[in-house]
Amino acid sequence: MKEIKCAFCKGKGIDPFDLLSKLATCQVCGGTGKVGVVEPAIKCAFCKATGVYPYTRVTCTVCNGKGMVTVEGATEECSGCKGTGTTKDSGLPCIICGGKGVVIIRMREEVYYG
Ligand SMILES: [Zn+2]
Ligand SMILES: [Zn+2]
Ligand SMILES: [Zn+2]
Repeated sequence: MKEIKCAFCKGKGIDPFDLLSKLATCQVCGGTGKVGVVEPAIKCAFCKATGVYPYTRVTCTVCNGKGMVTVEGATEECSGCKGTGTTKDSGLPCIICGGKGVVIIRMREEVYYG
């Protein structure tokens, strides 16, 4: 577990969009300005590590506003979204990689069915 600066509020601990009130605490970090991510983690491709769902005022559903996502194991660029994490037509998180922009490389097992 690594502690990083909260991407959604940029470490300020205050809701960046003043949705409730000017002093509303950040819903992602609870006002501490810091969030924990499980390593190894990479920058969230879908929100470009901003923690904000693109073109909205809500938290990114891929990284939950942290700006970083955990990836376990070796990864390669997602062929579905070309690493952007976004479905081109709909603007929704890529269904293949879930918005991370990378997919876990599975062990290639040679299986023969007789
Ligand atoms: Zn925050
Ligand atoms: Zn994100
Ligand atoms: Zn993808």
